[in-house]
Amino acid sequence: MASPVETLLRDQLTERRQKLESAASVVPGDEQVRRLLRDVDAALARMDKGTFGICESCHETIEPDRLVADPLMEYCLDHLTRPQRQALERDLDLAARVLRGLLPPPSQTFPGYEVVRHYEGAGPVSGDYCDAVGAENGGLYFAIGDVSGKGVAASMLMAHLHATLRALVPLNQSLDELVARASSLFCESALPSHFATLVLGRADRTGEVEICNAGHVPPLVTRGREIERIAPSGIPIGMFCDARFSVTRTRLSPGDTILLYTDGVSEALDGSGQEYGIDRLAKLLVGHPARDPSDLLASCLRDLKTFRSSAEPADDVTLMAVRRVG
Ligand SMILES: [Zn+2]
Repeated sequence: MASPVETLLRDQLTERRQKLESAASVVPGDEQVRRLLRDVDAALARMDKGTFGICESCHETIEPDRLVADPLMEYCLDHLTRPQRQALERDLDLAARVLRGLLPPPSQTFPGYEVVRHYEGAGPVSGDYCDAVGAENGGLYFAIGDVSGKGVAASMLMAHLHATLRALVPLNQSLDELVARASSLFCESALPSHFATLVLGRADRTGEVEICNAGHVPPLVTRGREIERIAPSGIPIGMFCDARFSVTRTRLSPGDTILLYTDGVSEALDGSGQEYGIDRLAKLLVGHPARDPSDLLASCLRDLKTFRSSAEPADDVTLMAVRRVG
């Protein structure tokens, strides 16, 4: 029996075929349209024969995220021709530039807040997400997330999540409704195996903060030497189309900071396979109270680098600090 992914891709290919046929009727004899039609038919024939997703050269499985991005793939990464490899590198480079363009500026100010972020992908494209945008009545929305999986498919879903939240924020819904809506949109458009952990927060001018943590590592709210962890209050988004979420409320005084991060930070490993851990991050914050948010991120990154020593980063590293200013 065909897998759900293959069924989805077959539907996509059938739809693409119909579009190409109508294009061919408008521009008969167009060589490019004829070639694309041949490629789509060949992929559909491979599905019928049961050889879809198998490399023509080595007969091993083609990388699933590449197939999802382009169901016409016939070769695994190891067996691309030189021009195919170069074209892939150009595509990845372009995708990486598009994704970098979706990140918020490294440092931003909003009425009553300073926001600083740091983003470091382990590969050319990543599924880590962060954003900070102004709210209509002053204050801001801030978000950090991590799409399951890696590579091109995860980064496409990250771009989708970015667009969804940017579109939903101006509607001024309650935070739990907003996350539920984002979850249902993500669920409808992503593959069944894909989901995303997400923290979405809204901070107003007076320091009142609402946070919805959907299955993400806990943000750390620092007030001098006191640290509050905002534990997840719901499952990751996109797992079930009708999931509900709840909101945690907290308050920031001038100088207080919320540190958000992805599991590429807390689950970073040293050379002996030890995990960095949330406790070490919290301890670092207690040791350096009331500092500038850029200094705070810099000292987190220094400590992470010291901890990892010579071990290569295995995951994307994203950090964001939201600090209330007087
Ligand atoms: Zn191969």
